Formats: sequence, structure tokens, C-alpha cells
Amino acid sequence: MIFSELEQEKCREIDLHTHSTASDGTCTPTELVERAASVGIRVLALTDHDTLAGIPEAKDAGCRLGVTVVPGIELSANWLGTDIHVLGYHMKRDGSLIQKLLDWVQQERIRRNEGIAAKMAADGVDVSMSQLRQRYPGAVIGRPHFARLLMEQGRAASVKDAFEKWLKPGQPYYLPRTKITLEQAAKAISESCGVPVLAHPLQYGFAPEKLEQLVAEFAGIAMGGMEIYYTGYTLTQRQQLFDLAQKYRLFVTGGSDFHGENKPHIRLGEVEVPRSVEDAVREHSKEIHP
Ligand code: AMP
Ligand code: FE
Ligand code: FE
Ligand code: ZN
Repeated sequence: MIFSELEQEKCREIDLHTHSTASDGTCTPTELVERAASVGIRVLALTDHDTLAGIPEAKDAGCRLGVTVVPGIELSANWLGTDIHVLGYHMKRDGSLIQKLLDWVQQERIRRNEGIAAKMAADGVDVSMSQLRQRYPGAVIGRPHFARLLMEQGRAASVKDAFEKWLKPGQPYYLPRTKITLEQAAKAISESCGVPVLAHPLQYGFAPEKLEQLVAEFAGIAMGGMEIYYTGYTLTQRQQLFDLAQKYRLFVTGGSDFHGENKPHIRLGEVEVPRSVEDAVREHSKEIHP
């Protein structure tokens, strides 16, 4: 594949990176698919953090509205102290390694959420975990949910501001959580017949050498892809990422990372992704798990 050819295939009909209320998006899976249909998206991957819970609802809506829903997930992994995100597409098998891993991740999140809530309560914020669970039933609760609460109570101007002031590392309500390794993430996805994809490579703040080290390591663990079409990535950045993907034999994908109101600058139907990406993901799914 040649980069310029890929660029010519760009369209706004494919988005392989979105979040729903099953994790930290603000649209339900149905609303997400409805919105996708209304902006002309044909193929949509639901990639909620650490859960596959939104997939059945999204699939139903997709059937009704003529949108192909790719079952996906986004896992956070620790690599040399940085939080790296791995997307998984065409996830199939339940009850295997992935389920065990997700259960462990949930437990670790519960532990951390209780800690964050305690810090906030001690500071006079009106917060309780049972309240949050009621408000976000079945959702993987994380810092974005605390961020909304802080915003609603007038302690932050926006979700982003809440992260800046309170929730990011170094700020008063931050607590780390123990993460799985990059290898565990990629292997769990492969085990579930999924295709692992390194998400948004430029979001980690790495210098070029370190980014290449990450890509090389990821490619060594898994046969998969790398997200190079992403909200805000420029032509030059895409070209550089494409070259890196080629060098390490990763196929390329793309998506917006839509989260609804939690990331208002990201809009559905605005990311441009080459048409052939859809086939590339499907082909790799077959190749890995014939
Ligand atoms: P957690 O997994 O609970 O640590 O929360 C991490 C999630 O918070 C990420 O996946 C993002 O979706 C979101 N996030 C991180 N930083 C920000 C930010 N500055 N503004 C909005 N959302 C953010
Ligand atoms: Fe998120
Ligand atoms: Fe991510
Ligand atoms: Zn995401």
C-alpha cells in the first residue's frame, strides 16, 4: 500500500474508535449508532474502555439503521510507566482470557474509585460510589465520571478543566491504578479472536525514538494494526506514522475517539478514514483466526 493512494480513499463513512455510556461516552450505544447513521457513517466500531457491555445494544441499533457495527474494546496498558491504549476489533469469544482480565481490571477500578471518592468527600465534594453507580448503571466508571461531577458542582468549568485541576497525575484527586502490560492487553485481544491495534500513537508524548521502540515492541507481540487516522492528526503526522507502520508490518486504521460531551471537541462524522481500512481489519481478523 502506498500512502498517497490511501489518502485518496479517505471518506467520512468509517469510524473505528468511539465510546458510549458503557464506559465514558455520553451517548448510549443506541444514540451513538443513531447519530452515526445521521451523519452518514456506514461502519462504526464501538470501542468502550475495558468493557464489551455496549456491543449487543449497538449491534441491534446497527441492524435497524443499516450501520455495520464492529465489536471492539479499548484496553489501557502500562508500558515503561506510560498508559498505552490498545484497541481490539472483532472480539468474539467470551469467558476466556479477556473476561478474566476485564474482571481484574474492574476490581482494580473499584478499589481506585473508592479512593478517589474518599479524597473528594474529605474535601467537601458531594460524592458517593452508590450514587455514581445509580447514575451510570452498568458503566465502567472512571475519572471522566468524577470529572463531570466536579463540573456540575461548580468546581471545574469543563471535563478537561476538571482533569487539569483535580484528576490528572500530580493533582489532589489523582490516584494511579495498577494496569495490565502491553503484552497482556494484546494477547487477551488475540485470544478473543480480536485484532489488536495500537491506539492514537501521538497521544503518549513520546520522542520519535521512543515511539518507534513502542511500535517495534507492539509489533513483536501481536500481528495487528496501528491507528494513524485520528482526530487532529495532520498529513505530515499521518505520513510519519504510516512509514512506521509499514516498517513494522502493521496495517493502518482510524477513528475519531468520540466521547460525546466528555470530549466536546471531537465530533462524530468528522474524522476521515480510508475506505480500505474496513477490509484490512476484516482480512486481519480472518488471517489471525481463520
Ligand atoms: P481512567 O481510565 O479512569 O484513568 O480515565 C482515563 C480516561 O479519561 C481516558 O481514557 C480519557 O477518555 C479521559 N481523559 C483523560 N484525560 C482527559 C482530559 N484532559 N479531558 C477529557 N478526558 C480525559
Ligand atoms: Fe475515554
Ligand atoms: Fe484512548
Ligand atoms: Zn478511546
